[in-house]
Amino acid sequence: MSDRDLTARTVGFKEGERNVFLHLLTACNLSCRHCYINPAQHGTATLPRETAIAWLRLFARPEKESNLVLLGGEPTLHPDLAEIIRAAKSLRYAVTVDSNGYLFHNLLARVTPAELDYLSFSLDGPDAAVNDPLRGEGVFETCTAGVHRAVAGGFNTSVIYTVSSRNIDHLHRMPPLLADLGVRRFFIQVIGLRGKPATGKGQGHGWQVDPARWLHIVPPVAREAARLGLHVTFPKVFLEQDEIFHCAGRVAENYFIFPNGRVYQCPLCEDYPLHSFEIRDNRLLRREGVNEDRLFTLDIPEGCVMNKLLQPDNIEYFADGRPRHRISCCLLKQEIVPERRK
Ligand code: SF4
Ligand code: SF4
Repeated sequence: MSDRDLTARTVGFKEGERNVFLHLLTACNLSCRHCYINPAQHGTATLPRETAIAWLRLFARPEKESNLVLLGGEPTLHPDLAEIIRAAKSLRYAVTVDSNGYLFHNLLARVTPAELDYLSFSLDGPDAAVNDPLRGEGVFETCTAGVHRAVAGGFNTSVIYTVSSRNIDHLHRMPPLLADLGVRRFFIQVIGLRGKPATGKGQGHGWQVDPARWLHIVPPVAREAARLGLHVTFPKVFLEQDEIFHCAGRVAENYFIFPNGRVYQCPLCEDYPLHSFEIRDNRLLRREGVNEDRLFTLDIPEGCVMNKLLQPDNIEYFADGRPRHRISCCLLKQEIVPERRK
């Protein structure tokens, strides 16, 4: 590929595109140091199969495909995941499952590659020495074995790498590993301001990566991954001077659904009872009062309002008071699609 082909493209929010993130449960076999699940806010329930399918009906559109990510906790701990995937397909969802790689309940034998659009694995290091202190002893080996089996079984696979100060220096070793494994897509994420890292339960502070380090490391690694044939997606994070800020809560259709019935439009709000909707008796209800949707309408020079509220100290300013960087919506992505995948 020429260098021109490796230019990252910002993936603007598309009118009419709907992304549904359904947390089937909050339980997990692992205890990652940066876990974003917050049982105090989202409960400990596992959605019964019938309820999960009823909730999927609330967000499905018969006339148009929507994107669905099934997640947890660890979604493969759900005994009926295969049936829920099949029901979602029949409701015109493109289905992705986000797993930590343990693939419980023999998932690969219970669904076919035609029924599952993507199986996504979370790996936070290119070897056990980097990954396992973050995600748990033995996790690297189990997860990469799961990727092997999925690729061999003909499933489309992707890997999510959550970048933090703990692992950013090892990101450059991921592209060759993923190309060797036969992974098709690589999602580079930034560590969230939610769950353990936000509450200080992540065993130490200082998980965030400063702008200069992010910009120095992440885009070149993304280009290298694309050069090796991977479709790469990574967060925009910082807007250029000429780029317009958009809050996804105002211009996109994203729904983050938890088993206690909370439905958020903004993932940064998930640690707070600010959800715009809730599901009660299998009906979707808009909530009255001061919720996340009030924040979406505030225009500030720093860009994302929630980022400014959650980590004001991380925003740098010029002497005249203007922010040095505008922070984009956390849902705004950049991507590089290798030529053969376009
Ligand atoms: S980050 Fe994911 S895999 Fe890790 S403990 Fe949390 S839910 Fe489980
Ligand atoms: S992350 Fe910021 S910009 Fe994006 S939806 Fe939430 S409040 Fe809006």
